[in-house]
Amino acid sequence: MSQAVRVRFAPSPTGPLHIGGVRTALYNYLFAKKAGGQFILRIEDTDQNRYVNGAEDYIHQTLKWLGITPDESPWNDQGEVGPYRQSERKEHYAKYAQQLLDDDKAYYAFDTSEELDEMRERLKAARVDTPQYNAITRMQMKNSLTLSKEEVEAKLDAGEPYVIRLKVPRKEEVRLNDKVRGWVMVHSTQIDDKILMKSDGMPTYHLANVIDDHLMGITHVIRGEEWLPSAPLHVLLYQFFGWEDTMPEFAHLPLLLKPDGNGKLSKRDAEKHGFPIFPMEWKDPASGEFLAGFKEEGYLPDALLNFLAFLGWNPGNEQEIFSLEELIEAFTIERIGKAGAKFDIQKAKWFNEQYLKNKSNSELAEYLRNDVEANGIEVSQEKLERIVHALKERVTFPTEFWTQGQYFFQKPDSYDEKVVRKKWNADVDKALSLYADALEKVDHLDAGNAKATFASVLEEEGIGMGKVMQSLRVSITGQAGGPDLMEIIEILGKEEITERIRLALEKLKDQISE
Ligand code: GLU
Repeated sequence: MSQAVRVRFAPSPTGPLHIGGVRTALYNYLFAKKAGGQFILRIEDTDQNRYVNGAEDYIHQTLKWLGITPDESPWNDQGEVGPYRQSERKEHYAKYAQQLLDDDKAYYAFDTSEELDEMRERLKAARVDTPQYNAITRMQMKNSLTLSKEEVEAKLDAGEPYVIRLKVPRKEEVRLNDKVRGWVMVHSTQIDDKILMKSDGMPTYHLANVIDDHLMGITHVIRGEEWLPSAPLHVLLYQFFGWEDTMPEFAHLPLLLKPDGNGKLSKRDAEKHGFPIFPMEWKDPASGEFLAGFKEEGYLPDALLNFLAFLGWNPGNEQEIFSLEELIEAFTIERIGKAGAKFDIQKAKWFNEQYLKNKSNSELAEYLRNDVEANGIEVSQEKLERIVHALKERVTFPTEFWTQGQYFFQKPDSYDEKVVRKKWNADVDKALSLYADALEKVDHLDAGNAKATFASVLEEEGIGMGKVMQSLRVSITGQAGGPDLMEIIEILGKEEITERIRLALEKLKDQISE
C-alpha cells in the first residue's frame, strides 16, 4: 500500500517571504492536492539571531491572499504531529540528539571560537583548500572523542558551553535519487562534522528539519535548489537514525534567475528594474526598509499563481491559462525542469492582463468604484460597467481603470500637444464645430449613429476621416490614444460630448495651423 502523500513548506521567519518561496509553497500545494494528500506548513524558527518580528504573520497573510491553505499549520493546528513551530519542539531535538550521542553517531565538542580559528589557520598554512572540522581534524580538537569520559562529564557538569556535532564517517559515498536532478552522489569527505545542536541548546536547521520531516510523516521534500548541497547530509542523518525506510523522496526546484538569465534573481535586480519580488509589501521593522509587493502593484492572486507555476514547470502542451484547480490537475514533478527559470516580469503582466480581461464587467466595476468614490465622484453602476468594458483590453492592473480613464469623469484640462501641433488645422476646426451641431440633433446617441453622423459631416465637407479623427479624440479625452472613440462618445452622452468639443475649439482656437 502506498503511503498518503504529506508534503511541507518550511519557511524561516527571517524576513519577508521571497517570491521563490511562494513558488515552493505552490508546488508543494499542487503536488499534495493532486495526490489527495496533506500540505503542511512548518515554521523553522530555531535561529534566534535571524528571527524577524512580523515575518511569520507575513507568511500567513501571503498564503491566505493566494488561497494556498495549509491543512496543518501553527495557525490552524489540524494535525496530530504538532506543534508546527520548531521553537516549540525543543524536547524532540534534545531526545534525538541524545540518541545519536548514545549510538556514537554524534559527539560533544567544546572548542572555543579562537580554537576553531587556530585550526583553520593551521590547515590553511598546510595548504588545505577547505579547512573543516571532519573525520581527520576532529582528532586534534577538544571533543568527547579526544577527551576522557571523566573530562567530558566534568565539563558538562561545570556548564561549559558545548555543541553537538555529527560524526560523519570517513570514507563513504552518500547518494540520493532526486526526482528533479536524478542521482546525486557525494563523498563523505566533502561533508564536515556539522553542528546539530548549538551552544544555546537550539538545534540547527539540519537536525530539526530531518527530525520534523520524520515525525510529521513527510513523504516528499520539495524545496529550492539551494538546499541540494545539504541533502546528502540529511540522507546521512536518516541513516544514522535508522529511518531510511520512511525517508522522504526529494525534489529540488530549479533556481529563479535574473531577467537576462545571468545568475540568481536578487532583491537588487527587482529594485534596479522596478518590479516586485515579494508577494506583498514589507516594511522592515528594524531598518524601516520598504519593499514593494505584487499584491499592492495590482497583481491578481490567480494570475500570480499561474505565472509562478510556469517558473520551472510546464504542462507539456500549449495551454498557458490555468486556474488553481486546473494546475492541481495538470501538475507533476516529472514536468519540473532542471534549468533555472528566468524571471520575466512581462510574462507576469501578461498573465494579469488575461485574468483581468476574463473577469465580468460587474466585478471589474468594483475596482473602479473604489477609486471613483475615494475621489468623491458619484457614478451609476451601469456607467462604471461600460467604462471598464471600454478599457479592459488596455489595462494591466485594476488601478489603471481609474488612472487611464480619468476623462470619463472630468473634462480634459490639457490636450495632447503633439496632436494639436501636427493636426489641429482649419479643416479640424470646421469639421468638429459642424459635428457638435449635428450631434445636437441626434435623438438617441450611440456609437453607431455617432459614427454615421461624423461620416456624413465629413463627406459633405469633403474632408477625409483620417485627417480629423485624432483631433476629435483629443478634444474629448485630451489624449492621443485610448479605446474605441465612438464607445467613449456613447458612454459620455450627447450633452457632455458637445460641450467638450466646443470647449476644445475655444481653447485651441489660437493654435490652428495651416
Ligand atoms: N527553513 C528552510 C528555508 O527557510 C527550509 C528548507 C527546506 O525546505 O528544507 O528555506
